[in-house]
Formats: sequence, C-alpha cells, structure tokens
Amino acid sequence: MRAALAEAEAAAAEDEVPVGCVVVHEGRIVGRGHNRTETLKDPTAHAEIIAIGAAATSLENWRLSGATVYVTIEPCLMCAGALVLARPDLVVYGARDPKVWLPGLAVRHCRGQPAQPRTEGGRGRAGGGDSGYPEAVL
Ligand SMILES: [Zn+2]
Repeated sequence: MRAALAEAEAAAAEDEVPVGCVVVHEGRIVGRGHNRTETLKDPTAHAEIIAIGAAATSLENWRLSGATVYVTIEPCLMCAGALVLARPDLVVYGARDPKVWLPGLAVRHCRGQPAQPRTEGGRGRAGGGDSGYPEAVL
C-alpha cells in the first residue's frame, strides 16, 4: 500500500486526482499507475487501468492470477469491472470513496461476478502487513 500511496502522491504532483495503484505478483511490483486523466485527456486513464495494463504487459498475460492489487481508494465501477476481467486473486483498497455514486456498488458488482477476486479481510482491519492502513477487499 505504501507504493500505491507513492503513486497517489505522483498523481497529486501532476495536478491529477490523487489515486495510486500497484499490482504485486510473487512478491514484486509488476504494474503501477496513478491517475492521468487530465494529462492524457482520457477519461479511462485511472490508476487501476494503467496499473493492470502494465502488469499484463509485464506478465505477458491478461489474466493476473496470483496477483494482489493495491489501490488507495475504492475503485469506481469502470475499474471494478476491469479488475474482474483481469482476475487478480485479491484487491485491497485503502479507503472508501465518499464520491462514489452508490458507496460499495463496485464492490457488490465484483462479488456478483463469476471471475470475482477472492474475498478476504474487511473494513477496519489493519492491512498491507505492517502498513497500518485500513483495508477493505473486493
Ligand atoms: Zn476508476
């Protein structure tokens, strides 16, 4: 989660919405990203989309089986859908997004999918090993 937060700080430095994401596979970061919608003039350039695309390129596989995705805030519905398609084992987010149209909608959407990421942990639990950040898991 610390690496995802560093990505969020990079987004803030670029006057982007400060969201960061990393994908970890076999103990190493294989994809990282931060919001770049303003820079790229692309409404889909969210941190998660960039990070999972980079991970898929790195792993030479669109299926992110065995991976854990860390994102600093609750994914939007677009990103939640992309995460379902990418099939990581686990998605951890640092905080709920109060601006989400219906809080928890993306999480509920993912839980209803046949290829859903594994569900583990929950709100209020310290996550990311010693990170101390709260986590919620899709
Ligand atoms: Zn998104």
